[in-house]
Parts: sequence; C-alpha cells; structure tokens
Amino acid sequence: MKVILDPQGGICGGVRRVIELAEKEIATKNRKVFVLGDIIHNEREVDRLNKAGLNTIHIKSLENIKPSFKLRQVLTPDATAVQDARILIRAHGEPPETFAKLKKFKIEVVDGTCPVVLKSQNLAQKYYYNGYQVAIVGKHGHPEMIGIIGHTNHDAIVIEYDEDVKKLSPDKPTLVMAQTTISPEKFEEMSEKIKDWVGNITIRCTICESVVKRGEKLHEFAKQVDVLLVVGGRKSSNTKMLHNACLSVNPNSYHVATPEEIDTIWFKDLETIGVTGSASTPLWLLQEFVDTLELWIKEEKSVKSAQSAVRES
Ligand code: SF4
Repeated sequence: MKVILDPQGGICGGVRRVIELAEKEIATKNRKVFVLGDIIHNEREVDRLNKAGLNTIHIKSLENIKPSFKLRQVLTPDATAVQDARILIRAHGEPPETFAKLKKFKIEVVDGTCPVVLKSQNLAQKYYYNGYQVAIVGKHGHPEMIGIIGHTNHDAIVIEYDEDVKKLSPDKPTLVMAQTTISPEKFEEMSEKIKDWVGNITIRCTICESVVKRGEKLHEFAKQVDVLLVVGGRKSSNTKMLHNACLSVNPNSYHVATPEEIDTIWFKDLETIGVTGSASTPLWLLQEFVDTLELWIKEEKSVKSAQSAVRES
C-alpha cells in the first residue's frame, strides 16, 4: 500500500496572498492585526494563524460601535503596549460599507481581497449602474457573495436553487455571473434556466481559472488512486465541490478535515491512497495526512510480519 500526494495540492494564489499579508502584519512589532471573520475556510490554518497572533473578530462587532469611539481603543483595550491596530480584509472581499465604516473609525485597512474576486465586484458594479439586474450563481450567505452584492447596492440576486430564478424580472436586461468557486456544471445549468426565464441576458463566467484547472486535473488524479482523501474545512464550498467532483469518478472519495477522521476500514484490500485538498488547504496540512497514513502503513506491516512469524514458529 502506498500514499500519493496530489502534485497540484496546496492553496491558491489568492489565499496565499492573504496569508502572507497576515503573517507580515503579525510579525510587525507593536502592531495588533484583526481579521473580519475566519481568514480562510480551513479551521486548522485559522487556528495556526490565531495562535501566531492574528485576532479574528466578527463584522457584527463593528456594528454596535458608535463612530465617536476610537475603534483602535475598542479593539485593543490593552492599548498601552499596542501602538498600531489594523484590520485585514479576507480574500473573499467585503461590501463597500465595510470600508466606509473602517474609514470613519480611521482604522488602517490591509486589503487582502483576491484580485479575481475584485474583478467580479467591479463587473457586477459596472453592469448594475448601467441599468442591468445582476444574477450571481452561487451560495446564499457566502462571504464572497455578500461582498459582490454590496457592490450592487444590495440588489443583486443569488441564484442557488431553481426557485431563485423566478426572483429575477423577466423583462430587465440581466448580467449572469458566478461565485468564483462554484462548479462550471452548476453555472451552466443555472444559466440555462435563467435563459428560459429572462429575455435579454449577458453571461459572464467569473469562475476562478485556478478552480477550473484544478477541477480538471483532480479528475485525473482521482481516477489514478484506489481511495482518495479530499482534505478541507467543513465550511469550504470549494472542498465540497471538489469532493463531489471526485466522487463522480472515484466512489472511494472522502472529505476529511483532520487526520483523526480517517477510518482505516476505507483502505481495506486497496493499494493506493491519494491525498488532495481544496484551494484553501495548505500543503503542511496535506503533508500531515501523508505522514499519518505512512506511519499507519508501517505499523500495519510490522503487525502483519509479527503475526506471520508467530504462525511459522
Ligand atoms: S480560489 Fe481563485 S478567486 Fe478564490 S481566492 Fe483563490 S485565486 Fe482567488
């Protein structure tokens, strides 16, 4: 039995960028850095960065603060030692009012919005202010969607289910775009349904190219191995999407978040175990799975050889 690490595994460029920004801020002396919500959809990486000094706060905690307060003081009650507090914006981006609020508080912002997401926000904004209704195929309540919708004065409509299509006005010119991490199949399916309902539509596929390429290569990898572990956070849409894609070609595919979730019964009578992850699964976490599995294989071998030695004696 052997373990194969997906050569394409590891985080995407947008996630790498925001993590590097966080690490740089954490390393700066006398500075406290806050991020609005989990920096990425991976509990283990969030935990690592929080332990290193990143402070995760919820956007809602800003809502109750009156502008007359100094946000810096509210965020850092131990302000004696901290001279500087900054807020990091995640790769998912934020609606314009978040930036406006932070500006009012005179708190410095480190913008980690992924350039690909930024492009989607600009596209939605441009069409919306040119008289279009904007339909975004993706997940209700996803942070990226909240950011994009904010760029359309909160009028864009999320299309996740068939019934969402009917929320669109059939007579208005409509831009159809996508959440960056949804599957091309889902986008095509919903675009067709919108086409049947709305007369005048412009379709712009805004799915992230790295997600598409990764999905294609992952299919090949999933076919090559007997059993596949798709490592990623429970809240990660991209992990769920990749896991479903893997299941379609390899029914022995499992979504796992920590090595403790591995059930060795999955590997019974099988030869190769593949380990892969989503755009938000860091390489160190994939390697942790590989090390755990290799250790287990080694222990299994020594148990078997001890048993055969007993039988022979
Ligand atoms: S998946 Fe694509 S859009 Fe999302 S953060 Fe990564 S690079 Fe950016």
